[in-house]
Amino acid sequence: MKITVPPALAGRVVRPGSPEYRLLRSTYTRVHSPAAVIVVRTPEEVRAALSVVHDTGLPLAVRSGGHSLSGRSSNDGGIVIDLSGLPRVDVVDRAARLVRIEAGARWGRVARTLAEHGLALSSGDHGNVGVGGLATAGGIGWLVRKFGLTIDRLRAAEVVLADGTITTLDAERDPELFWGLRGAGGTLAIVTAFVFEAVEITRVAVAQLQIEVSDARSSLVAWDEYLRTASRELTATMTLFGGRRGTAIAQLTAVYAGDDPPTASRVFRPLGDLGPVRDSTAQLMPYRALVPVAHEHPNVGQQDSFVRNGFVDKLDDEVERRVFGLAATPGLLVQIRALGGAIGDVDEDATAFAHRHQSAMIVGAVWGAGNVVTLDESIAPLARRFTGAYVNFDADGDRAIADLAFPPATRRRLADLKQRVDPHGLFPGYSV
Ligand SMILES: Cc1cc2nc3c(=O)[nH]c(=O)nc-3n(C[C@H](O)[C@H](O)[C@H](O)COP(=O)(O)OP(=O)(O)OC[C@H]3O[C@@H](n4cnc5c(N)ncnc54)[C@H](O)[C@@H]3O)c2cc1C
Repeated sequence: MKITVPPALAGRVVRPGSPEYRLLRSTYTRVHSPAAVIVVRTPEEVRAALSVVHDTGLPLAVRSGGHSLSGRSSNDGGIVIDLSGLPRVDVVDRAARLVRIEAGARWGRVARTLAEHGLALSSGDHGNVGVGGLATAGGIGWLVRKFGLTIDRLRAAEVVLADGTITTLDAERDPELFWGLRGAGGTLAIVTAFVFEAVEITRVAVAQLQIEVSDARSSLVAWDEYLRTASRELTATMTLFGGRRGTAIAQLTAVYAGDDPPTASRVFRPLGDLGPVRDSTAQLMPYRALVPVAHEHPNVGQQDSFVRNGFVDKLDDEVERRVFGLAATPGLLVQIRALGGAIGDVDEDATAFAHRHQSAMIVGAVWGAGNVVTLDESIAPLARRFTGAYVNFDADGDRAIADLAFPPATRRRLADLKQRVDPHGLFPGYSV
């Protein structure tokens, strides 16, 4: 199909055959073949690009950083609206810690720019992840137990709606859409810029431990019990490399949101009691070093990975047994991320990310489409204990994850919102 674009988009459209296409067609996990990628620089260009989608009737994908684990920020034969031409990061009011960040910025750049002002925002664990995809869904980052999800720091959003309306949303101006944007934003609008209230932090303490763990020692139960009562300054993840059933090597990364070494050591110490420690390091570092600009790279479908996740209320004996079973599956990587702390300060109905009480997120990943069945079969016994999930850590982004990610009351509100702002289903995403 010949795609005709309005004069406003002259020079902004990349088609198959053009030299830039190779670097713009795909996402982090999937290689795609869109009919056109429209690289926009302003909300008006987003509106013009949406008119092309309306006129052609082709499927739409919206992309900010392209780190989607489902690959849904590109498509085959459709149109991609790419927001990488909107990368600005500005401190707009230092006293109020208000920062305006455009959707196409990467979190590494955000951390670096904010650090120049003594500020930070908890985002995720990777500097190349885009602002748009993470800040419309959640944001489970290195400071999450201290400062909450990334969406919890959002104060306003500049958006383009499905009908081309350009507007700004906040708690007063369309609070319902502002509610939905924080958890299910990708299915409701295109955000061009976010206004966040940043936090004052520059340096953090980071510990890395490699520990032999076994279910006989109840290591995961002990980890969970400690993290549920530990100081909020502590956020930690555990990646399990399975050995024989019931034993594993755990790689722990623990971040203390503060720069007082004796206190950080005290908070880290119980993590070293989870099993024999093979290796450990601890150091103070700038927060920006945790999500470095050095992570930046083009996304060309280089990681053929498939991911599932779920939240558990607590890691009890049964969950621990099932996590060890999962970790014992050859080729499967398991990660446990501590939740809790400031996540629970926000009411369940305050944002479309409703899961506020669980203690951990468990993530399973495999490489290669041929291993997805193994992943699903292996995670099934554990999945019976899942009480929620994070849409951004799922390879399909389909109804199954929507069921788990959005409780019935949230789904009803989202369905009403969708009907109001995008009745023709222009914006793709998990079905709500
Ligand atoms: C290596 C890696 C590490 C990660 N680590 C973390 C982590 O620590 N914590 C965490 O919370 N997440 C993490 N994620 C998941 C991450 O939050 C999602 O992949 C997120 O979608 C990436 O943002 P993006 O802008 O790069 O996404 P894109 O691939 O550009 O977009 C993904 C989807 O988000 C929506 N979207 C994108 N931009 C916009 C916009 N401007 N307006 C409206 N909707 C939009 C669209 O539906 C799109 O399909 C990680 C992912 C990867 C690959």
